Amino acid sequence: MGKPEDRTQKNDGTGERLAPSNFIRTIVEQDRVAGKWDGRVHTRFPPEPNGYLHIGHAKSICLNFGLARDYDGLCNLRFDDTNPTKEEVEYVESIKADVRWLGFDWQDREYYASDYFDQLYDFAEQLIQKGKAYVDNLSAEEVRQYRGTLTEPGKESPHRDRPVEESLELFRKMRAGQFPDGSHVLRAKIDMASPNILMRDPTLYRIRKVSHHRTGDKWCIYPLYDFTHCLSDSIEGITHSICTLEFENNRELYDWVLDELGVYHPQQIEFARLNLTYTVLSKRKLIRLVDEGHVDGWDDPRMPTISGLRRRGYTPESIRDFCERIGVARRDSTVDIALLEHCLREDLNRRANRVMAVLRPLKVVIENFPEDQVEELEAINNPEDPEAGTRSIPFTRELYIEQEDFMEEPPKKFFRLAPGREVRLRYAFFITCTGVVKDPDTGEVVELRCTYDPATRGGDAPDGRKVKATLHWVSAPHAARAEVRLYDHLFDRENPNDVGKAESFVDTLHPNSLEILTDCPVEPSLKSAVAGERFQFERLGYFCVDPTADAASGRLVFNRTVTLRDTWAKIQKRGGKA
Ligand code: ATP
Ligand code: MG
Repeated sequence: MGKPEDRTQKNDGTGERLAPSNFIRTIVEQDRVAGKWDGRVHTRFPPEPNGYLHIGHAKSICLNFGLARDYDGLCNLRFDDTNPTKEEVEYVESIKADVRWLGFDWQDREYYASDYFDQLYDFAEQLIQKGKAYVDNLSAEEVRQYRGTLTEPGKESPHRDRPVEESLELFRKMRAGQFPDGSHVLRAKIDMASPNILMRDPTLYRIRKVSHHRTGDKWCIYPLYDFTHCLSDSIEGITHSICTLEFENNRELYDWVLDELGVYHPQQIEFARLNLTYTVLSKRKLIRLVDEGHVDGWDDPRMPTISGLRRRGYTPESIRDFCERIGVARRDSTVDIALLEHCLREDLNRRANRVMAVLRPLKVVIENFPEDQVEELEAINNPEDPEAGTRSIPFTRELYIEQEDFMEEPPKKFFRLAPGREVRLRYAFFITCTGVVKDPDTGEVVELRCTYDPATRGGDAPDGRKVKATLHWVSAPHAARAEVRLYDHLFDRENPNDVGKAESFVDTLHPNSLEILTDCPVEPSLKSAVAGERFQFERLGYFCVDPTADAASGRLVFNRTVTLRDTWAKIQKRGGKA
């Protein structure tokens, strides 16, 4: 087999990067060279609509849709909706919105496993007729006991060899609703001594007398995953059926069902699922966080859901970039969340306009600046983007700076404002602190008295004198007021599942993962910020206008997307890698 082509760059002069190669791309390329599947590439993303999508799903989405994009193929969106008790229309809608937001398009190929229920039922009867499936009426507990263990073979059910006609009749009665839930199941007849426990006569159908969000009350028996998934892939003409490693043992069953039925047979390929530090990525756990109110819904900006990341201010580009960089492998690993944040910073650095906002204000009065005068100064919107232009910001006698930018008795390494010291106010003037006003009761510094040097307009001294710090600031009379929500990791440790003596991952929730600041003065240009708009607050981080905040009320709410401190870049530097 030839070496895979270099796919790091699109060959059309756009310089656009293509996903780096990985073992799945190698398989696809080899299949194309060999003419397998007539050179077709047809993948699918098969979510179960029992929760919102998370960043792990994004990895699978980018992989499946990315293959289709890069090899002139197709990718279907297929809802794996075989469990009516846990699935909801709300989830279907959120999944579609999230895949679209990530930048992928399934065109008219929106499929539902439930659309195949009639076909699946026919396939099940075919298996019975072939003597490859039978109706069992052991209880669930008995089925478990008969299954055996990893070291001991299972035991055959006494009903295993009942005549084909009898199984067929019972299966039809199951479908007709003549038996209660749990009384009968349809099982494949494979091998109760198989070393692969999944091959020990797995259940294919069970009775569930519940309505389904799409098929209503048409069915009271529902097919299980292992029966449904391979046949859905087959029906859709999928070529490469990509799933996560925990399905490795299911592959034998996937192949068995398709071979026994003699139908079109896609290839299942497993890859390692994404794990992220400080994060849980299991729907069951995410549901628990929502249901128990540990977070403010599925789109809480601390959630690793796509909707949470979106509300936090993540861009689809940064998530796609992350998914490319982590690659695709067959070995389980945990990715440092700092890499995800690094991808986000790189993207926002290019596109987010800079503005000034003060989170914890300290009032400054410029004593030699006339009252009622307003000096309009020019500020650069984005030094990384010449197209972004400039804006005008007002400078007045009364300003706000950040409390932490002043110390009355500064230690050696503190270079910001202190009594008698001169600093630069960004895009404005040099100012010198000449006095401190304190609360008579608490002794807390509540106001600074300063002077400014009019000759330093724009931020440079004509005599060449230097200052060691540049502070952000906001004009007090012009400031808009905003609520600012500071988010931190949702969990207090890298691996929230490593609970030690605690009871469960819920006990590892970080108690200070959200801090809300109200009444933060922000520069007046932000009065016209729109929902979802992203900014860099100079020196503080990236923030976005909370898209769910009530815009009509005129209330400004910002979510902190990410701070400016790039721990990933530091790790890379230390490791000596690019
Ligand atoms: P969970 O374990 O969170 O419940 P799931 O696998 O049950 O996830 P599905 O809706 O069945 O969720 O997943 C749809 C697709 O996304 C599957 O192909 C699955 O393998 C893939 N997927 C789910 N979680 C991850 C992950 N952490 N990393 C990569 N792919 C994932
Ligand atoms: Mg699943």
